[in-house]
Amino acid sequence: MSDIDLSYLASPAALFAAQARETPRPCTWIENEDGVYETNCDNLFAFNDGTPSENGFAFCPYCGRELREQ
Ligand SMILES: [Zn+2]
Repeated sequence: MSDIDLSYLASPAALFAAQARETPRPCTWIENEDGVYETNCDNLFAFNDGTPSENGFAFCPYCGRELREQ
């Protein structure tokens, strides 16, 4: 298999960058008992009405990652 890029073996930093690129990590928002969303990046957000998607939130405004409701 000559088409596999093994250059990362020489550089832990490059390996980390490759993993970050290949593993999209969404920001998960979990609604607590007060109706407030606790974000994966340790913030709180409350909507007047509806869910993040119903309010047009596709990305977390705090960390910029894709927003995922749970
Ligand atoms: Zn976030």
